[in-house]
Amino acid sequence: MHRLQQELFDDESLIQRLHALGLAGVRRVESHENRSVMVSLTGSGILRVHRGFAYAPDAVLAAILTFVSPRTRRPRRRAAQQIILAFPVYSNTRGPRRRPLRPKSRPEDRHLLRRLAQLHGLLGDRFFGGELGRIRFRISRQMRRKLGELTLDARDRPVEIAISLRHIRSDGWQEVQHTLLHEMVHQWQAERGLPVDHGATFRRKARSVGVAPRAVRDVGRTH
Ligand SMILES: [Zn+2]
Repeated sequence: MHRLQQELFDDESLIQRLHALGLAGVRRVESHENRSVMVSLTGSGILRVHRGFAYAPDAVLAAILTFVSPRTRRPRRRAAQQIILAFPVYSNTRGPRRRPLRPKSRPEDRHLLRRLAQLHGLLGDRFFGGELGRIRFRISRQMRRKLGELTLDARDRPVEIAISLRHIRSDGWQEVQHTLLHEMVHQWQAERGLPVDHGATFRRKARSVGVAPRAVRDVGRTH
């Protein structure tokens, strides 16, 4: 799943679970990835919770409710705080300050990676005025339905383009070039601070680089 979508999904499920456990008296829940303050309640009634708690068991979420409730007395609040702080929140989020994982590429992938990088350079010159940044590539053996995928970091900057090995083997380089262009349009969106999606801007740019924006083969691709 796309990083951003994963985060939205996590946030939504975290908020739902907090409500299911009886969250009350809070105007809004916001998630964050701030290491120093895991949980806080602002004066205006906004509960700010670290995103990693989306993976916490109910007992930990219940401790969050206890911690922020105005009715909780100090000893209980301190006990709740200890439960909250004991949860290893960083093993569940990639965290904005961590380096992205860099899986080792297999030796047999090297010529494919080189070819993708060359193609990226050529297509970047031809269709994007040479403005796109260089990007890392990965050959994926896990992608089943997806053909390609752009990964963004926590600040929505493009990190990597993955291309399905199965796609390269069974569809050939002409098709791979289309997939690469599709991902490059997403890279272009991300580098301009535009939303990385398949909206009107995507469709316009995709058409201008000769990619059918609604191609059937794009079904199931996150980005
Ligand atoms: Zn896409």
